[in-house]
Order: sequence, then C-alpha cells, then structure tokens
Amino acid sequence: MKLNELTIKEAREGLKSKKFSSVELTKACLEQIKKHNKDLNAFITVTEKEALDQAKSADELISSGQDLPLLGIPIALKDLFSTKGIKTTAGSKVLENYVPQYDATVVKKIKDAGAVIVGKTNLDAWAHGSSGENSDFGPTKNPWNKEYVPGGSSSGSAVSVASDMCLAATGTDTGGSIRLPASFNNVVGLKPTYGKVSRYGIIAMASSLDSIGHFTKTVEDSEIMLSVTGGKDIMDATTLEKKHEVKPLKKMKIGIVAQYSFMGIDKNLKTLLDNADKQLKKLGANTEYISLPNTQYATACYYIIQPSEVSSNLARYDGIRYGSARQNFGDEAKRRIMLGTYTLSAGYYDAYYKKAMQVRTLIKQDFNYAFKKVDAIITPVSPTPPWKLGEKINDPLKMYLSDIFTVTANLAGIPGLSVPIGFSNGLPVGMQILGPQFSEARLFQIGYAYEQATQWYKQKPKL
Ligand code: GLN
Repeated sequence: MKLNELTIKEAREGLKSKKFSSVELTKACLEQIKKHNKDLNAFITVTEKEALDQAKSADELISSGQDLPLLGIPIALKDLFSTKGIKTTAGSKVLENYVPQYDATVVKKIKDAGAVIVGKTNLDAWAHGSSGENSDFGPTKNPWNKEYVPGGSSSGSAVSVASDMCLAATGTDTGGSIRLPASFNNVVGLKPTYGKVSRYGIIAMASSLDSIGHFTKTVEDSEIMLSVTGGKDIMDATTLEKKHEVKPLKKMKIGIVAQYSFMGIDKNLKTLLDNADKQLKKLGANTEYISLPNTQYATACYYIIQPSEVSSNLARYDGIRYGSARQNFGDEAKRRIMLGTYTLSAGYYDAYYKKAMQVRTLIKQDFNYAFKKVDAIITPVSPTPPWKLGEKINDPLKMYLSDIFTVTANLAGIPGLSVPIGFSNGLPVGMQILGPQFSEARLFQIGYAYEQATQWYKQKPKL
C-alpha cells in the first residue's frame, strides 16, 4: 500500500512507530497531486513548500515524543477557508488575488493539532452549486469517470480524498455541499450540527445554514477530525459545547422516510438503499417508516432563505471594501444575488422570505417529532448517481432539485453523515444518516458498524 492511501488512524500509527516520516508521507501526497491534478482539477493552490516545512517540524515533534491527533497528517482545505498568507479565492475571480491576514478558527485548530496543509481545493464559486462546475477555475472531474461530475460545492475536497492526494479535507455544507460530493466519490462526509464547528474565518454563503465539516476515507477518521474542529469558539456566538448520549446499535430504531419512495429516486440507487437497510437490520438495528410531511416544500424553502442570505453576505464584495469589480461575479452568484434581493424587498418579504421561514419551522418540527420515535433516519443523499459534466449546468432548476434530500438537515440544523453504499454503473453513491442536534457520536456509531460490515471504502478509483 502506498503511504498516501493510508487513513489518518493508520498513518498516525505508522508515524508514531517510525515506520515512515511525515516528510515521506507528505511527499507521497504531493506526488499524487502532481500526477493527477492536471486531469482532475481538485486543487486551486498547492502549498508544497509550506507543507514540506510543516512536515519537517512534525517529524521533529514526533521524535521528541509529542502526540497530537493530526501530527504529521497531510490535509487539504476547501478554498473557502481563510488561510493566513495563502490565497483564498472562494472559487471566484472576485477574490482571485485575496490573501487573508488570519486563519479561520478551524484552520488554526487543524494546524495546532499538528496537521500538514497540502493546499486549497477547488469549489463551485462561493459554494453555489451541486456539481463542481460553477468554479471560475474550471470544473473538477470525478476520479471514477472523468466525464462525470464529482458533486459540489466542495468538489475538490471530495476528489482530493478519493484520489489519495491527502488523507482528509475540510468542506462546508449549506445545503449538501459535503454530503453530495462525498457520496459521488466513495468517501465519508460529515455535516455537523449547526453550532458544533466554528464558522469564523470561513467565507459566508448563507449564515443560518452554513455548517463546517470534512471528508475522510473512513468513519473513524471523521470522528478524529471532528474531535479537533468541534467546540465552542468565542469568535462565533452560535457555537456550543454539547454532548449526546450513545446507546448500543442493537437497541436503536432507524427511520426510513415514507414520502421519499415517491420522490423519483433512481432505480439502481433504490436497490442499493434497500440493501443498506437490510444490512443495518442484520447488524441488529430496527428500521421502521416515519413521516416527514413538509419535506416536499424543503427545496423551495431553501432556495428562498439561502439566496436571501447570499444577497446580503455578498454585498461586501463591492470592489471597494473587498474583492475586484462586481462584474467579475459569475452567472450563478448573480442569479442568487438578484433572487435574494427580490425576496427580501419591501412587499415581497412577507410573501416569500417570511413564509419560507415559517415553513422552515415546520420542517424542523417534522424532525423533532420523528426523533421521538426513532434514533436516526436514513435517506438517499442525492436522487440520482453522478451525472455527466454539462448535463444540468444550463438548467438551474434541475440542478437545485438534486439537493432535495440534503437541504432539510441544514434548515433544521441537524447533523448528517454520508457513507458509501456501493456503485451504480461504476459510479459511487452514498446514503445519509441523520440524527438529532449534537448526535454526531450516534451517527458515527451507525456509520462505522455499516462501513465495517460492507467495506465499500476499500474500493479505489483507477486513475
Ligand atoms: N447545492 C446547494 C446550493 O447550490 C448547496 C450548496 C452548499 O451546500 N454550499 O445551494
């Protein structure tokens, strides 16, 4: 096995027992980037020199007996995370030359935990998108088949982990941007509870929906990452320190959403989901149908609240305070700025924004009610497997509809874990496990049991 193919857990063991050094591990990742980034376009910036310096320091710390959760581990950051002294573009020409003066809280925490930062990954500009094609720096390609989309908006992060260019990568999820690309790449993606991970220093998309999470090769690694990034931050007043109890899987009830079987799920995907359901039963969990009646309004509700917040957050990039000229905004950002300005304007606020906020409460109540009956809920991540590059890019509505199963978690502020469940015509798909707020430990427990029983994560794309 090559060093860059290791998980965080395996690499930490190898580094501790001096089987290899962080410099060797980092070089293996950088080599993989050099070999395949031209084709896959996963990175906007590669920080080779900084990475090798950080790896050298990590090796010194390891020699002196230091033990930190990410010591010497190569990690990539979505290019939406502010990095001191390193270009942070948000995937947009507007910020093409922006170099932040400080690190986002999560970046600081990851660095303090000893990680080596290998670079900044590609994304749909401003995190607007579901396919990775909206980037001003060119689309990212799916490593399982380069004619297909890798999912977005955290496209480069998912691809960098799936193609072993790093051991883990950060992402943001406002309406599915971690879970969707994770499922399209056969990797694990976590969207934590709103308030579990600090948003400070991350370029805001829609502040009441933005969740900061990550991509890993395994569920165990996802837990390691969250133990580093999570917790209260005085720079983000919405963060909380909270724990949730965990009970054995054999005593768990898992809900399957009755309405979802009518929502046009792809046939192959449906079979894979049924198999996953059977597997969870085999592992001792009970599954039963539950109802989320307001889900049918979720996409409409999300595509009012989210652009409203986008229009307000992007107002600061006016070419005077921040960024280059406003005409450098791409079509998708312009569309959202106009939509959001409209839904917030006098006369329309009550009809659209306020109504959508009321529906948001109903969606949240659906979940509260469901979690009285079940411990977790499983759903598809996307209604279809990955689609071809170009297939939906000229039809925004079609693109938005791929978010139907993911946006509810953001509207309700609950956590969601995407885990691989197999392949449809050679392309990976995942399922999402949802739980009540701050129930990440429970999601890891279910995800881990399923992952160990099925071992999908061991399949790698042939590059
Ligand atoms: N695809 C969704 C959108 O375009 C979600 C994006 C995200 O989570 N950042 O808004």
